[in-house]
Amino acid sequence: MSRKLMIAGNWKLHLTVEEAVSLAGEIASGLMREDLDILVIPGFLALEPVALSLSSSPVLVGGQNIFWEDQGAYTAEVSGPQLKAAGARYVLIGHSERRQYFNETEKTCRLRLEAALKAGLRPILCVGETLAERESGQAEGVLESQLSGGLAGLEAGQMDQVTIAYEPVWAIGTGLTASEEQAAQAHAYIRGWIGARFDKDVANSTRILYGGSVNPANAAGLLNQPEVDGALVGGASLSAESFLGIIQAA
Ligand code: PEP
Repeated sequence: MSRKLMIAGNWKLHLTVEEAVSLAGEIASGLMREDLDILVIPGFLALEPVALSLSSSPVLVGGQNIFWEDQGAYTAEVSGPQLKAAGARYVLIGHSERRQYFNETEKTCRLRLEAALKAGLRPILCVGETLAERESGQAEGVLESQLSGGLAGLEAGQMDQVTIAYEPVWAIGTGLTASEEQAAQAHAYIRGWIGARFDKDVANSTRILYGGSVNPANAAGLLNQPEVDGALVGGASLSAESFLGIIQAA
């Protein structure tokens, strides 16, 4: 079963609205590939202006997080209906920075994932082990608990909306990339887990992205791994030249 590659840029807490719209424009005008899904994930303030500026481009827009209630007395939160109305099509769930600094748990990831599906957004569930967990042989156990928690109770039919991003924490923003073999092994584990939890068809059709210091020089090797269906890019997505370089390498 063929899976369409995705290259996604997570702009994190970077760029003013004006800078974000300008970067989105540079990416859209430099784009030469329509066989890939290209996604940019600006901060919340820039999401709608970026989405409007990309309305006649194939570049998609996503949110960096989502709250599980649609509305109410939840100061500073952003809901699924708000993201959808602003032009988001995808949303990150459980990015390691959220897990590390903002106490995201499996339970809150699951609630956010449900809210995304309910709002008609496609969740990208981020999973990955720390260096200490890898070095103590717990990497697969961590993936297992993040996958089983984040996808708890989900039905096979809902998985066509879900993307998984394997992002080893030790490779995020550090310049350390997982080797092609390490990425291939982790992706194969995740696909095997999905096959056992759901079924083989779901496993074969679920898109699994790799994230962790992807750049134009290492992208081709990682993206050539048969189980790697794209990249979630942080630092290198903040310049049109390097983001387009990754797209070109795919
Ligand atoms: C990320 O933020 O998801 C990420 C992978 O960042 P970087 O590419 O900078 O490691």
